[in-house]
Amino acid sequence: MKAPVKSSGSSSRVVSTAPSRAAAPSESKSGDLFALLAEHTHEQVSFYYDAACGYRGIIAIHDTRLGPALGGTRFWNYHDDREALVDALRLARGMTYKAAVAGLNLGGGKSVILGDNRITRREAIFRAHGRHVESLGGRYITAEDVGTSTADMEFIRAETEHVTGLLGKSGDPSPVTAYGVYRGIKACAKVRYGSDDLSGKVVAVQGCGHVGYSLIKLLHEDGARLIVTDIDAQRVKSVVEDFAATAVTTDAIYAQQADIFAPCALGAVINDDTLSQLKVDIVAGAANNQLAEDRHGQELESQGMLYAPDYVINGGGLINVNAELHGWSLERARNKAGEIYDSILRVFDIAREERIPSYLAADRLAEERIAMVAKVRQNFV
Ligand code: NAD
Repeated sequence: MKAPVKSSGSSSRVVSTAPSRAAAPSESKSGDLFALLAEHTHEQVSFYYDAACGYRGIIAIHDTRLGPALGGTRFWNYHDDREALVDALRLARGMTYKAAVAGLNLGGGKSVILGDNRITRREAIFRAHGRHVESLGGRYITAEDVGTSTADMEFIRAETEHVTGLLGKSGDPSPVTAYGVYRGIKACAKVRYGSDDLSGKVVAVQGCGHVGYSLIKLLHEDGARLIVTDIDAQRVKSVVEDFAATAVTTDAIYAQQADIFAPCALGAVINDDTLSQLKVDIVAGAANNQLAEDRHGQELESQGMLYAPDYVINGGGLINVNAELHGWSLERARNKAGEIYDSILRVFDIAREERIPSYLAADRLAEERIAMVAKVRQNFV
């Protein structure tokens, strides 16, 4: 059976996952490649072309102060080479922040393969990519991302050991991600209500997929009342039957009279339209890139809602991948994901101390940890 190709991003909000979204790096002058790297202090970019199979790939390494740069391989039909480079740079930077706040000894990197990801003859392309990864000697470790599948990772594995997320290894990260999100929601409740007890709390969950289902189960076990939605009627039916959830239409989920809104489907769901509908105390869920624009993070807070930065609360997926690299057990990965509780508390502490929105406080937390580790390592041993 053909392994499914991933279709959604897995990076943090710090960077755009949509190749068309313009951001700061693209504003550097055309042709000024080192200016692009200097803008966010990327360490290295590698370009590799294999004429025989037509492989064109870019690997961006943002920061390796915490460890080897880890980030998926995105296979995408970019408009031009520059767009591909800028996407790789943004995504790599996002991985640095995500790994740092997750407390992992990993840096941030990302790779892009330029081309049509629907091609059926994939072996040559992914083996060429594997050789590209191998040429970096372990400074970069790759995994699945948009347009690639676990089967593609197997082709990469034929050429390099520096690939993770393989078939039969750490497996579906969703239960670990869901557990981290659950712990993050409890931390938000602690900050907002003075107690992390979720019994009797009403949680509106958008998306009953892999993460959503596991999260709904954990919340139900804690005595929370669930309001759910999904475009897939079968998935809604399952959670209604299994966890006595109340189903609403996809458009109605934002305006529910709930305590907590947990986006577990799409990105950009916190936008001008939804902000006028939301009546919750807390926004905390698994989806990547929840804020349509940074200003929406500020506006959530202006409206009195507590926002758990997405790349902090959904770090369980990365923790799961890291577990595969180090031969960790599921229990150890789950424990580590449980620490998201403390990270979320720390984010709100920083936000309060520095009087900044939580999405910015998350970046500070990441930067603090990188600086701390770099300092510890500056002596000669
Ligand atoms: P999934 O595809 O299994 O589930 C997503 C669900 O959302 C599906 O059931 C889909 O039908 C539903 N959906 C799509 N559009 C919708 C809409 N308009 N309204 C309501 N429901 C809609 O994906 P997942 O693995 O559960 O991931 C969910 C989110 O969490 C994604 O944004 C993903 O990028 C992010 N995330 C996942 C992981 C992980 O470990 N799986 C890790 C980090 C972040």
